[in-house]
Amino acid sequence: MDDVPKQLFIAGAWADAADGVTMPVDDPATGEILCQVADAGPKDARLAEDAAVQAQREWARTAPRARSEILRRAYEIILSRTDELAALMTSEMGKPLAEARGEVAYAAEFFRWFSEEAVRIDGGYGVLPDGRNRMVLGRRPVGPCLLITPWNFPLAMGTRKIGPAIAAGCTMVLKPAPQTPLSSLALAGILKEAGLPDGVLNVVTTSRAGEVCEPLLRGGRIRKLSFTGSTQVGRLLLAQCADAVVRTSMELGGNAPFIVFDDADLDVAVDGAMVAKMRNMGEACTAANRFFVHRTVAEEFARRLADRMGALVVGPGTQDGVDVGPLIDGAGRAKVEELVADAVERGARVLVGGSTPEGPGCFYPPTVLTDVDPGSRLMATEIFGPVAAILTFEDEDEVVRRANDTPWGLVGYVFTEGMDRAFRVGERLEVGMVGLNTGLVSNPAAPFGGVKQSGLGREGGRVGIEEFLEFQYLAVPVR
Ligand code: NAP
Repeated sequence: MDDVPKQLFIAGAWADAADGVTMPVDDPATGEILCQVADAGPKDARLAEDAAVQAQREWARTAPRARSEILRRAYEIILSRTDELAALMTSEMGKPLAEARGEVAYAAEFFRWFSEEAVRIDGGYGVLPDGRNRMVLGRRPVGPCLLITPWNFPLAMGTRKIGPAIAAGCTMVLKPAPQTPLSSLALAGILKEAGLPDGVLNVVTTSRAGEVCEPLLRGGRIRKLSFTGSTQVGRLLLAQCADAVVRTSMELGGNAPFIVFDDADLDVAVDGAMVAKMRNMGEACTAANRFFVHRTVAEEFARRLADRMGALVVGPGTQDGVDVGPLIDGAGRAKVEELVADAVERGARVLVGGSTPEGPGCFYPPTVLTDVDPGSRLMATEIFGPVAAILTFEDEDEVVRRANDTPWGLVGYVFTEGMDRAFRVGERLEVGMVGLNTGLVSNPAAPFGGVKQSGLGREGGRVGIEEFLEFQYLAVPVR
């Protein structure tokens, strides 16, 4: 912990906040303060923005190969430090070490993927319909970006934005979530070591997100916002971006349906449910939120899921053998408790879990609820915790209608042995991503993102870099 940077990273240098303020970083497994980090104010944000604006011109002219190699070196450094980065992430966020190691690999992969994309930015040439004019299409970086990330995947949400921004030739200011600033600061140190020029990435840790970000979004120098977080905050930021017509990518909340048909392989479905529900203790935008299980298999599915959930070991993420760490903070746990209490009041049965353990830390046990009333609050709210809420259905049309009956549309999961049905239902779901007989869709090589109020744009995949590029068309008449 001592050698982890705790200051702001501006123009390639570490600095205290201008007014000297710091903020605590807590360990969610104990509730104790791990350390203090710089708590930036608007003045610091302005300095970070200045650095990004100043570096933009030169950075945009850097050879794509040079940008690619910086990312590749950073990818290798991250992997070589897997254990220390995982330990850091677990200490500030709580996830078990094995999951944190998995996230380090996932996060690094965005840098490898975009190191490969940096050298494949293409343009175009064409003869226009009049036969006389020629069209030359070039690609240019969109310009200085503001990147805002949540706490649930402290490293990967950063690399998923920083990777394509670097590859495209954009400079940036990163504002990580206040609960998990350390992973982002460590990442900045790694990129500096990998040769990233000063000012290309600036990191501003703060407990005053609104004060720090709003002037940047309204000021006209930041040309792009890439945000991952809740739909509520995303909406607010979209409005702030309107003034200066800032381009946006929004990765927002979800309310994923997890559908199990009567012809599903229940072993596969339960395995899928464990991943879709329990990855990151349920604190994932992709987490299965509403389980719709065909009436004829619902009891068996619920029993098997409850057995598996009940066997998970809950405890501090640093301890060997622990499967489920603490939730991020007291507020996160209180929300889960309220949602479960509301469902139980409306008639849900608790098969396993359902009550908060005594003692320090923000722990909540893996919980399975059946006979959930469709009017329960957890049907219309991201649970963001280890709670599986099971409802039954009778037929395909009905379940598709109920699955789509939400303003969100990030991901859906479908379990069936019927190929036709898998495609048919998958295509009818109003979501950006579908897991067919799998509980995991995230992959740096695939476009991640949602429809409806789950977001705008995609991260990762071939299209991930497009979010950071503009077209420029040159009209050339040929006489
Ligand atoms: P959040 O409250 O929306 O916060 C996300 C980030 O936005 C944090 O850094 C937060 O900082 C910042 N923020 C909040 N208000 C702001 C403002 N007025 N101006 C500028 N920044 C502001 O979400 P969260 O609780 O951290 O994360 C959970 C949410 O993220 C869930 O809804 C989840 O579904 C979503 N998520 C989506 C994806 C995806 O790819 N679709 C991936 C992961 C998570 P402060 O905390 O200081 O306010």
